[in-house]
This record gives sequence, structure tokens and C-alpha cells, in this order.
Amino acid sequence: MKTNAVKIGNIEIGGDRVVTIAGPCSVESLEQFQQTALFTQEHGATLLRGGLFKLRTRPDSFQGLGVAGFSIVEDVKTQTQMPYISEITDTRQVEELNDVVDAFQVGSRNMHNYALLKELGQTDKPVLLKRGFSGLIDEWLHSADYIVNGGNENVILCERGIRTFETKTRNTFDINAIAYVKQFSSFPVIADPSHGTGMRELVIPVALASIAAGADGLIVEVHPNPAEAKSDGYQALTFEDFQQLMNQVKKIEPIIKRNHC
Ligand code: PEP
Ligand code: MN
Repeated sequence: MKTNAVKIGNIEIGGDRVVTIAGPCSVESLEQFQQTALFTQEHGATLLRGGLFKLRTRPDSFQGLGVAGFSIVEDVKTQTQMPYISEITDTRQVEELNDVVDAFQVGSRNMHNYALLKELGQTDKPVLLKRGFSGLIDEWLHSADYIVNGGNENVILCERGIRTFETKTRNTFDINAIAYVKQFSSFPVIADPSHGTGMRELVIPVALASIAAGADGLIVEVHPNPAEAKSDGYQALTFEDFQQLMNQVKKIEPIIKRNHC
């Protein structure tokens, strides 16, 4: 089925080019966010990610800088002019995040949060809708419809791995889902091999496989010093890894026929 491209700022997702969204799991400090943004931009990322409100399994884990991180994001956005995407975890954040983000991310844990999806249907900002870790493809597509039915057609799907019997990796990245939604839906789809594998060593091969399967882009976690990261350090690419990823993406992009269907 033909993909309806969605624009985040001036960047088209679902068009002819594979886009890369890069940044840390969490915004931690100006230095960390700025260094990551400048490096990833220099090597081909066109959109910036970085969580401000984090949904963590353990209540004693770092919960994100929240509102205290807004000025960091604003400084780095001004410097790089890159559109920025961040997770919204609560309907009450729509207003405060609206001025900071260029697209809202709905996290895996909130794919079934219909109150949040309806609220985002009332906005005109693009929404990156992650697949719930136990969400069926059909449930994911119905969640997308909640946003569209509210009047906001700017929905981008994101496959980020599902929970299966396999425990060797954090999640099982569902490559079928990428191929399926390209074939049978009109939403653009982004692959998240960082959460999909949970292992830095697997991010590059799974990213490349996703592009081959038809993904319109990637969202990857990158950190200047993953060992010190406040969240998801084990899956964060180092700067060197990111550069290697982008070199490989550049090589395979021209030989993958875009929008196969
Ligand atoms: C994230 O992108 O950092 C994140 C929390 O993702 P997910 O909702 O897929 O776990
Ligand atoms: Mn993360």
C-alpha cells in the first residue's frame, strides 16, 4: 500500500529517503545532549531524540529531568536547528511539551493508553506511536486510528520489539511487523533496533535488516559515554558505533528499492 509521508519539522518520513533519528535515551545534561546532537548531526542524523519524562520499570530508577530539561533541549535545538522528538507519558503534558517537541513519542507502555491517544488526536503535531511490547499488530493499528479519528493524520509507527519466550535479548525485534505495515497500511514506519535488541552489538545488523524490510527510518540511542548513561546504557551506541552505522546505511540505502509495495 502507498505510504502517506509525514513531516516532522522540515524532514519527511515515508518519502524517498531513509531518515535517522538519534540521541540519548534520556536528556541528562547540556554537555551530554549537545555533544550527542552535534556528532550525530555531523554524521547524517536529521532528527533528534532524548527523553525528558521517562517511564522506568523501577520507581527508584532515574525518571528523567522533566521540565528542568526543557532549557537544555531549547539550547541544543537552537544550535542545531534539528527537529526534536520526545516521549509524552501523561495527558497533562500535552500543553507543556507542545512548545518543546516537534513530534510526540508514545512509548511502548502507553500504546493502549486511549485517553492519551485521543488527546494527541486533538493536536496537529506528528505522533511516533511505538508498538506495545505485548501489542498485536492489529491493536497497534487500531491505536493509530484513535489518533487519526481525532483529526490528526500525522502518525508514524515505530516497531521496537516485543516480549517473547526468548530472554537472550531484551526484546524480540519483529521484522515481520515492518514488512506487514508497509504492505498493508499507509503509515510510515520507523525501526528502533536499540530497544528491539537491548544490546549495542546487535543494533547495526538489526538496523540494516529493518531498512531492507522496508523501514522508512531508524531511531537509535547514542551516548558520549554509555557506561555512565542514566538509562539504557547497554544498548546505546558510542559515537564511533554511530558513525559506522551511518556509513553502512549510506551504502545500502541506494540499493534498497524504497516503498516496495
Ligand atoms: C525510549 O525510547 O527511550 C523508550 C522508553 O522506548 P519504549 O517506549 O519503546 O520502551
Ligand atoms: Mn531508552
